[in-house]
Amino acid sequence: MANNEDKFKKIIAHAKEYGFVFQSSEIYDGLAAAYDYGQYGVELKNNIKNYWWKSMVQFHENIVGLDAAIFMHPTTWKASGHVDAFNDPMIDNKDSKKRYRADVLVEDHIAKIEAKNDKDVEKAAKRFGDAFDEAQFRSTNQRILDREKEIEDIKSRLYSAMDENRLDDIKNLIEDLEIACPISGSRNWTDVRQFNLMFSTEMGSTAEGASKIYLRPETAQGIFVNYLNIQKTGRMKIPFGIAQIGKAFRNEIVARQFIFRMREFEQMEMQFFVKPGEELKWFDYWKNERMKWHLNMGIPQSEYRFHEHEKLAHYANAAFDIEFNFPMGFKELEGIHSRTDFDLNAHQQYSGKKIQYFDPEINESYVPYVVETSIGLDRTFLAVLSYAYNEEQLEDGSERVVMRIPPFLAPIKAAVLPLVKKDGLPEKAMEIFDSLKNDYMCFYEEKDSIGKRYRRQDAIGTPYCITVDHQTLEDNSVTIRERDRMQQERVGIEKINEIINNRLKH
Ligand code: ATP
Repeated sequence: MANNEDKFKKIIAHAKEYGFVFQSSEIYDGLAAAYDYGQYGVELKNNIKNYWWKSMVQFHENIVGLDAAIFMHPTTWKASGHVDAFNDPMIDNKDSKKRYRADVLVEDHIAKIEAKNDKDVEKAAKRFGDAFDEAQFRSTNQRILDREKEIEDIKSRLYSAMDENRLDDIKNLIEDLEIACPISGSRNWTDVRQFNLMFSTEMGSTAEGASKIYLRPETAQGIFVNYLNIQKTGRMKIPFGIAQIGKAFRNEIVARQFIFRMREFEQMEMQFFVKPGEELKWFDYWKNERMKWHLNMGIPQSEYRFHEHEKLAHYANAAFDIEFNFPMGFKELEGIHSRTDFDLNAHQQYSGKKIQYFDPEINESYVPYVVETSIGLDRTFLAVLSYAYNEEQLEDGSERVVMRIPPFLAPIKAAVLPLVKKDGLPEKAMEIFDSLKNDYMCFYEEKDSIGKRYRRQDAIGTPYCITVDHQTLEDNSVTIRERDRMQQERVGIEKINEIINNRLKH
């Protein structure tokens, strides 16, 4: 494949052509950063959700679920800090009229310096061969050390300016680093301004006195404000968790890169409540568990990496991201955060209600600490698509696009295809379809040549095609074709379910 940008474009085009993801309101030329999941997209998305729900809620006796409303009392967002601090610094280029996140411009600049170091390391590795010691090289090579120092200086200027809301200093930094707009190439920047990412709307009619409410920018707060309800009614003992899947909304300044950064998206979050002082132990536990969850999909370890936050949010005492090797490079897919007692304390303060846990083991009450795992459903979807998309050259010289979606996540598990549209084959195929549809999503199709139909199933990632031919009518056998190796086997109809079920294990 030519390059990653090319691959990304192909994945986006493929996702549209095969009914995975459409631009929202496309007939009106689309709405920026909003997407609709089509007939196969919704299946894949539901399968990812089920996989998460099962492994978090069903597999843990001490984790329960929740489905909180998107609208919440506005004070929630005051308490959580979102009203005052859920801001991104933005800056516009006066020539291209493009808007950027000011911190991202600086971070991209840092990434370029880091790339220079990586290149030097790569060159040295080639030169020295097996004897090369990367750690030693990085800690002794003067050019690398100079660049490291430069990076440290930039970071310290950026993060202190952000922490103290010194917007002029962020602009000065951009000017000092001579950062140019990637579109216009000019350095003609506006001032940096803060931009709150929450969407707001009005609740109630104006006659009654409408009040301003927000569309939740994260699902976590629905969990915090229900902490007491669930702890009491579920008789939960610490440590325990509450899990939720739901929509979140952020008015992102720069929303691009397909479903990676949207203004309406879905999160799968779990808050794990623990005894104060035990949070770092549980943080480690969840960090490892979550990585196992990703690897258990069958996507190789090399596609994932941990990234430790250098700049912790004011409420966190540890934070790691799990990054995935998306077509545009390694980027955040999931965050694991140790959030201390910040949120529960804040809700206690703003609501005036006591939010505490009486721990019978130590005969004391306390505000629990929280370890959070927060993963984007849409980003997981994109990770699966990016990994699955493969263009293959076949032995007969033809090409195929095959989506190697992990079979248990595949939208359709089996396509039932009568070889021809006559002689009673469609009826027999329908009988097989009916016998399988109870267990998993099946697909029936009788149009076009069998080769074309196989290709279409490859393109949506169906692990098995079952072909009904004249022999089926004689001896109740079918051919079953496997997606990845394209091998065909003749088997009795009664064997189909076992073969497919074996492949769906993970
Ligand atoms: P980023 O730094 O990419 O903006 P974030 O650190 O703000 O992300 P969190 O607030 O930790 O993200 O949200 C948890 C998860 O929700 C992220 O890891 C990501 O998978 C997902 N997510 C966040 N913002 C978006 C978005 N605009 N579109 C799609 N998914 C998102």
